[in-house]
Amino acid sequence: MATTGILERLRDDIVLGDGGYVLELEKRGYVQAGPFTPEVTVENPEAVLELSREFVDAGAEVIQAMAFYGDRGKLETVGYGGRAGEINRAAVELARQAAGDRALVAGNLSLTWQYDPADSTSRDRVRALLDEQLGHQLEVGIDFIIAETFEYLGEAVIAAEFGSRTGLPIMVTMSFGDAPETRDGKTPAECARALADAGADIVGTNCLRGPQHILPIVEEMRAATDAYIGVQAPAYRTTDATRFFTGLKGFPDAMEPYQLTRWEMADYARQAKALGANFIGACCGAVAVHIREMARALDKPTREPSRWTPDPTRAMSATEHYRDRRAASVD
Ligand SMILES: [Zn+2]
Repeated sequence: MATTGILERLRDDIVLGDGGYVLELEKRGYVQAGPFTPEVTVENPEAVLELSREFVDAGAEVIQAMAFYGDRGKLETVGYGGRAGEINRAAVELARQAAGDRALVAGNLSLTWQYDPADSTSRDRVRALLDEQLGHQLEVGIDFIIAETFEYLGEAVIAAEFGSRTGLPIMVTMSFGDAPETRDGKTPAECARALADAGADIVGTNCLRGPQHILPIVEEMRAATDAYIGVQAPAYRTTDATRFFTGLKGFPDAMEPYQLTRWEMADYARQAKALGANFIGACCGAVAVHIREMARALDKPTREPSRWTPDPTRAMSATEHYRDRRAASVD
């Protein structure tokens, strides 16, 4: 188990997160597009382990348990409600196995789809679902909590309270669509302050908006609070007309043309750092190559950093090789 905790690491340096699981595992054939629930942790655990290891090798300093949409209510929609415990425990065990002593393991909570600001009883339902889900993850043991992708500030505040309830550090991040406003009408600045007040150690934003549209949210949150700021952008190119990738024509199963290059994600990491973000990771669409280049951009070690780097002194292809030999023989 890694010994230095997330808060100590954040005090010293930027912390590099991991990439996206759900959409990548869908592409690899292990997650169903639509529900995007995490039963893969019990149905095809080796697929989760492999993807997590790729992120660790690339330089991720935190591995998230693959438990997105893993509350019992959401799992019931795909017939896995009765296996919520098993699915969440497996998610943490797989993250732990991949991380070894090279990365911290974050438990994972996310939006439940049960929150309704007009129905005060929905708060209790959300709290009970998240409490149950987190309980399963705590049985295995996590280093801190990442609660993510909230669209209602009210629901995110419920999640933030699990920090003090468990005594674990917690990061809580909001997702924004076209408007820089939550579904309950709150600005990024209001979210940052409210989440920090509710006990979140790291506040921020993740998913939906590609780097160019998520960075202004980071800037606004940075100015609003002294708490650590976290950002996990999807590796998709959103547009000024459609600022959230799930609104693009290719969602969910034709996203390849929108995927960003490793260099664009490296630029994103540099810009996030310049804006004062402390926890910089990625979300949907981000694979190991993105994390590797983000690691380099943030001066982090990656495994065998030079082995895969192109060598300009060597031919890149047979075509170049034979052209060079022909040129040499003419001389
Ligand atoms: Zn995402």
